[in-house]
Amino acid sequence: MTNPLLAASPLSYGLPPFEALTAEEYREAIEAGLSAHLDEIRTITGNAQPATFENTALAMERSGQLLNRAAAAFFTLVSADATEQIRELETELSPRFSAHQDEVYLNRGLYERFAAIGTENCDPESARLVEEYLKEFRQSGIQLEAPGQERLRAINAELARLGTEFGQRVKEGMKSAALLLDDVSDLAGLPADDVASAAEAARAAGHDGKYLLTLIQPGNQPALAALENRDIRRRLFEASVARGSDGGSLDVLDLARSMAELRAEKASLLGFDNYAELVADRQTAPDFEAVRTMLNRMASAAIRNADAEAAALAEVAGHPLEAWDWAYYSAKVRREKYDVDEQALRPYFELNRTITDGVFFAATSLYGITFHERADLQGYHPDVRIWEVRNEDGSALGLFLGDYYARESKRGGAWMNSLVDQSDLLGTQPVVVNTLNISKPPAGEPTLLTLDELRTLFHEFGHALHGLFSNVTYPRFSGTAVPRDFVEYPSQVNEMWIMWPEVLSNYARHHLTGQPLPQDIVDRLEESRLWGEGFATAEYLGAALLDLAWHVLEPGGVPGDALEFEAKALASAGIAHPLIPPRYRTGYFQHIFAGAGYAAGYYSYIWSEVLDAETVDWFRENGGLTRANGERFRQELLSRGNSRDPLDSFRILRGRDARLEPLLKRRGLE
Ligand SMILES: [Zn+2]
Repeated sequence: MTNPLLAASPLSYGLPPFEALTAEEYREAIEAGLSAHLDEIRTITGNAQPATFENTALAMERSGQLLNRAAAAFFTLVSADATEQIRELETELSPRFSAHQDEVYLNRGLYERFAAIGTENCDPESARLVEEYLKEFRQSGIQLEAPGQERLRAINAELARLGTEFGQRVKEGMKSAALLLDDVSDLAGLPADDVASAAEAARAAGHDGKYLLTLIQPGNQPALAALENRDIRRRLFEASVARGSDGGSLDVLDLARSMAELRAEKASLLGFDNYAELVADRQTAPDFEAVRTMLNRMASAAIRNADAEAAALAEVAGHPLEAWDWAYYSAKVRREKYDVDEQALRPYFELNRTITDGVFFAATSLYGITFHERADLQGYHPDVRIWEVRNEDGSALGLFLGDYYARESKRGGAWMNSLVDQSDLLGTQPVVVNTLNISKPPAGEPTLLTLDELRTLFHEFGHALHGLFSNVTYPRFSGTAVPRDFVEYPSQVNEMWIMWPEVLSNYARHHLTGQPLPQDIVDRLEESRLWGEGFATAEYLGAALLDLAWHVLEPGGVPGDALEFEAKALASAGIAHPLIPPRYRTGYFQHIFAGAGYAAGYYSYIWSEVLDAETVDWFRENGGLTRANGERFRQELLSRGNSRDPLDSFRILRGRDARLEPLLKRRGLE
């Protein structure tokens, strides 16, 4: 038997043959991929001919295909369906990947060939390709002398190890923080299907007859909005915010401190004042100061709005409010003042119908694309569904995988990732995945979405479209390979169709009666739109400013007490609120510590939202959900990936630079 990953997949669109793969085969293919890639690079640097675009930049873009194929499949499993073996392999391989990255971008011979390429006769995308490579070499430390490079390699390897450890402990910590409750009366207020899920979770954990209230990844535990027993709310809240910082074996604060220290040293080696400056150098934001100015500008208005909300909540509660009361009374205000009962809405948002008649319907209306389920193809888990996506003229566009249900082997949160990147050079079409964590109902029961899950479904599909519509030459520029503070923009835009009348009336139907969501409920949802924005903005800004605080430290300046540092950082940024913890606290801030993904970049969501709010206005001004608008958004924005400056793509779409006002208005921050 040969390892199927070693050859290009024979399946449609190059979908990996997941069901045929063992952990050992992932290891073997990744090892082979790492060494094949280095061989390819040796061939490039060993070329006796002078460096040209073709023999250097193009050759690099063609290299590493085995590694990319194996790594894409492997990391999909790491996040979405990790067995114990896969987790061990991740721990073993993550420093290898980091070392490999250094092997490539600290290669002086390769750098010198890139620097020698004349780009005068190149088309703009090719010229940009060379520039982007040169920038990555510089950001990786190519300019450093040998001892500096040596140190950098050691830092990167250690950061990779710590990041993996952080992610694995958070995942375990989330499980172990679940509340085991004896009596069903403790769950009073929870919808019946959530009670059933808690009973099932307890049974699966060996506590038949009890109830296990499991945690979800963000700080906000949805059950807090429903639980009537105040003491249970307190226990759930405290279990949630204490994750990762209880001093036990799953405590991550020392990992976070070490990572902040190493990142500060790395930035300093590379000639930046701090890690936030190093990160800003790769973003669309002009610099770190511009980011901090914007966040600070919003912080005081958000706190002011949150205080007004807190006052309204205390009045309803009839007693002084504690942090664990917020969601409960907020839901109560929504029910009583705005007459909106979130739980009563769920029967109108059945998962399958929302996917096909909502998410897909909106995409068909805008872009003409159609979706065809491929029951003949298999994903990495039986719950994964696969659709072939076709253009309006019937031509093939790519594959879309939807993996919607929560399970033990999946990390928390929701995300999109790519299994195959579109590229004209390689002749590849995109294969993209959306992964969510919706609780699976008992067999035979419908999956009824919360408003938050509904929003996540549309959001993640916006990322999927960014990957599917990619129309670039070079794999390096494909789809969502844009700066971090731009990548959330298309996904946020896609959320605008959730409440768009033609879309809503098409999918929001009662799962038993088929009746549409009554118009007066839609109106009340709209009226209550700003209720809770103070809280949401304050908790988001708390996390964004906490992230920045960890990444503006100087080497040697990392605090001994992480929790005290966290409290001080929030207070000095003007975003501390006794009733509103940041959306992520240090102990479970995976975005910035489980890998480098959003380190010094959690601000990206609101930075992208500036462009999103502008684009929503643009769609509205031009007639909303039309093929013409969709086509323009696809051509000028979604298809471009990073093949031209993303802000240029935005300017061409909007006709000018972005303004902050639409966002301030949307969030009630004017
Ligand atoms: Zn997103």
